[in-house]
Amino acid sequence: MPRPASIAIIGGGPCGLPFARLLETVGIEYVVFERDASSDPTPLFQGGTLDLHRDTAQEALRRAGLADEFEKLARRDGSRILIQDFQGNHRHILGEGNDAPEIDRFQLRQLLLNSLPAHRVRWGKALRYSLDPRAPGVVLLGDAAHLSTPNGAGVNMAMYDALVLFERVTAEVQKIQDGEYDEAGDAAALERAVGAYETDMRPRARKNILKAIGMEDMMYSKDGLRQMVAMVKPPAGA
Ligand SMILES: Cc1cc2nc3c(=O)[nH]c(=O)nc-3n(C[C@H](O)[C@H](O)[C@H](O)COP(=O)(O)OP(=O)(O)OC[C@H]3O[C@@H](n4cnc5c(N)ncnc54)[C@H](O)[C@@H]3O)c2cc1C
Repeated sequence: MPRPASIAIIGGGPCGLPFARLLETVGIEYVVFERDASSDPTPLFQGGTLDLHRDTAQEALRRAGLADEFEKLARRDGSRILIQDFQGNHRHILGEGNDAPEIDRFQLRQLLLNSLPAHRVRWGKALRYSLDPRAPGVVLLGDAAHLSTPNGAGVNMAMYDALVLFERVTAEVQKIQDGEYDEAGDAAALERAVGAYETDMRPRARKNILKAIGMEDMMYSKDGLRQMVAMVKPPAGA
């Protein structure tokens, strides 16, 4: 008889799907429960472009064996911002050399879905779950753990959370791999993995939330416009 799924992933977003894919690469049992009825575009997934950073989101894709597929879709010239004056004269380029190519949100989702066996994702399943992170066997990742004002980092944080949790889970699983199947032992190992993940995630999340609050404060301050212009203004002589 097949062993029951060990890990239930609630939500097939930029966090849940990379985590599923990473588990898939090492043969750990999982099922994704997704609220959307199907993979068809919804208002959220129709548009929106995301820049994936080298050390976080791109690293998760590399570890998931999806770097080549990502490169086929990545818009590497999309991370440059060309600043022109009102006559269209070139003034300055921001982001030159940044390793943060753009990909459409829907393309990213499809790329990840294509890497999973179809039966691993259960569509139209809006699960009710406790948000109590202290409940045994429950762990929060991505926006569920550290929602912030959009500041261009959310997807990168979410995908990196998936990678960190995966690394902690596999480290624990390796320790018990040779032993007999033991439900209590497996649960304890997962709890240790969750603890190690949270220790890593919390300061990272706090730093990003504070950065997002800082940006929001700046944008809504009385001289927010001046500060914003100063941020993107070409250096003197450029
Ligand atoms: C307008 C806007 C622009 C943004 N732009 C950027 C950007 O440019 N760059 C960037 O890095 N970040 C951006 N973000 C942030 C980014 O979208 C999030 O940080 C990221 O999507 C978080 O991923 P996630 O998987 O944690 O959550 P989500 O993307 O919210 O995915 C959660 C998934 O779970 C499903 N779900 C929810 N509840 C349930 C349930 N009860 N049962 C089952 N399934 C459920 C949802 O349908 C969804 O598929 C933006 C956010 C917004 C709102």
